[in-house]
Amino acid sequence: MILLDGKATAQSIRTELKAEVTALTAAKDRAPGLAVILAGQDPASQVYVRNKERACAEIGIASFPHVLPESTSQAELTALIDRLNVDQRVDGILLQLPVPRGLDSRVLLERIDPGKDVDGFHPQNMGRLALGLPGFAPCTPAGVIELLRRFDLPTQGKTAVVVGRSNIVGRPLSIMLSQPGRFGDATVTLCHSRTHDLAGVCRGADFLFSAIGRPKFITCDMIKPGAVVVDVGINRTEDGLVGDCDFEVLCASASAMTPVPGGIGPMTIAMLLKNTVQAFKEHTAA
Ligand code: NAP
Repeated sequence: MILLDGKATAQSIRTELKAEVTALTAAKDRAPGLAVILAGQDPASQVYVRNKERACAEIGIASFPHVLPESTSQAELTALIDRLNVDQRVDGILLQLPVPRGLDSRVLLERIDPGKDVDGFHPQNMGRLALGLPGFAPCTPAGVIELLRRFDLPTQGKTAVVVGRSNIVGRPLSIMLSQPGRFGDATVTLCHSRTHDLAGVCRGADFLFSAIGRPKFITCDMIKPGAVVVDVGINRTEDGLVGDCDFEVLCASASAMTPVPGGIGPMTIAMLLKNTVQAFKEHTAA
């Protein structure tokens, strides 16, 4: 079985990006900049934001943190986004989700300039993704596709099953897998909690992608022998972080599989950095 090592792959991507950022910073006389907005005290969000800031620093992206209290209002966040939209040092704006209770994240995400939407959540970027036009793709599904590309596991002509239809993972991943290309061109089934005979549907998959949020939900009877299994799930349990897939059991049947942790998590951060560098290039193009 091939271990789809996202940690090592993400490290290679960061090394490539660091060289690119060093050259671009010298040529353009400023570094790429990422503004990170964290409102509230969610412990997991604090860890994610810290990891993103550390990753930025490592490759030479300037980060502009905005840590705000739980009591921050919709109007205050809107005003902050408006300021960041016109701040010339800022190429990307990241609003860490979830936002505090009572705030409307959908409206806030729509407020972000689509040209600075490095998370790829703005409806304009989602629409462009669906139409196959250039734009910012959401980082987690982009990380999945990039991992397949780096391990040269083409999905072209294959059967792909995605379990989970969220707007940030499952749905955009299903769109990317169905677009033309060597790492697209799959025959895609998108599953969710109302799917009938989920195990049977999953068993038909050459490529199985899980983005559910339930520890060890995908079991041996749900995969085709030789399938490629990509586990996006990150679940906190008493035994630490586990994925949606029972790795120890599935790895005996899968031909390739991601670990959790060390799979799609680091790839997601690498794609955020990549999108930020892309935004910088667009903002500084002569
Ligand atoms: P989400 O918004 O909660 O969506 C979960 C999806 O799973 C929903 O579409 C839901 O179906 C489906 N689902 C839940 N129970 C199911 C069941 N019993 N059978 C079939 N489908 C079921 O979650 P998300 O934000 O997409 O995240 C999913 C997982 O990925 C989480 O563990 C999260 O922590 C992880 N994640 C990881 C990264 C990363 O960087 N690696 C990034 C983002 C998320 P319905 O729509 O019918 O409710």
